[in-house]
Amino acid sequence: MTDKRTDEVTDDCIIPLEIPKTELRNLVVHQSEDDVQDIVDYIEWQCNTKRERELEETGKTDLEQEEVQHAEKIKTERVIGTDYSVWDVHTNLNRWWVITNPTNLYSQVLMPSLDYTLSFHIGLMARVQARREIAGADELHEFLSTTQRKIYQAQLTFDSADEIEDFQAIGLQCREAMISFTREVVAAGLFDDIEDPPKKGDFLSWSEHVIGARAAGGAAEYVRGYLKAICQKSWQLANWLTHAKNATRADAALCLSATEHLTHELISLALKSKSRSPEQCGRCNSFKVNVTWRPDEEEYIALCEMCGAEGNWNASSEVPTADEP
Ligand SMILES: [Zn+2]
Repeated sequence: MTDKRTDEVTDDCIIPLEIPKTELRNLVVHQSEDDVQDIVDYIEWQCNTKRERELEETGKTDLEQEEVQHAEKIKTERVIGTDYSVWDVHTNLNRWWVITNPTNLYSQVLMPSLDYTLSFHIGLMARVQARREIAGADELHEFLSTTQRKIYQAQLTFDSADEIEDFQAIGLQCREAMISFTREVVAAGLFDDIEDPPKKGDFLSWSEHVIGARAAGGAAEYVRGYLKAICQKSWQLANWLTHAKNATRADAALCLSATEHLTHELISLALKSKSRSPEQCGRCNSFKVNVTWRPDEEEYIALCEMCGAEGNWNASSEVPTADEP
């Protein structure tokens, strides 16, 4: 709206002036301040890292710092079990799409269609994820970094494995990943209260503690039974493969996928134990309770995606202690 146009208004029918973008965030409901801040931090970090590189390369001193004026979540779409949230982000210099899981940004000038950009993002991320890399986000690397690295190394070995010795080596690496898991879980103090603890390298005994601590109660009998069975069978498989004189590529593939699967299951149990996260939100009963690592507070927080309740396990009421929604 220009000053000229405003001057021309002569009756009481007044079209409101454009709201400053920086004020918009106070008028948008249904999005959490934490989520907005994550997106703002991401964009400013991405854009200003690029800006600093340009400053170095061109020697210019007049490149303006990029600052977010408004970030708004447009939608979340679930594709093959993964939720992708799409954000429309206005800065003082550009306008971006930001899409999560993992997060990436796209210029709205180059990619004007949101739907097209989402398809592009999912395709790009599928290709990136097809490459081997150490799995897991910050909250995992914080206390299970060695386990994740050992699985990654077993995957790399598998990719280049041609002979029996290589297949045997995968058995050994899978075995080490399992032992490493127990060592890291113990080191993280998850089971400090256990009387007469098993030996540090005793994977099967420790895995029973991990399974028992979370998948407790009669209703979880089948879950516990399944998890114990895969731990025992995978452990036996890895031990056999390590020395198998007739090992094949298929055996190595089976051992690797069994190890990936069981560590994935055990790790999610251990993470929930570490944050003392309940399965369900105590305030709204939603199952959308996520565990995130807060580096500033140096603790694991259980956060309800639906109502925003957050906090640690409250032993007396068995609900997360809800702070500000
Ligand atoms: Zn809730």
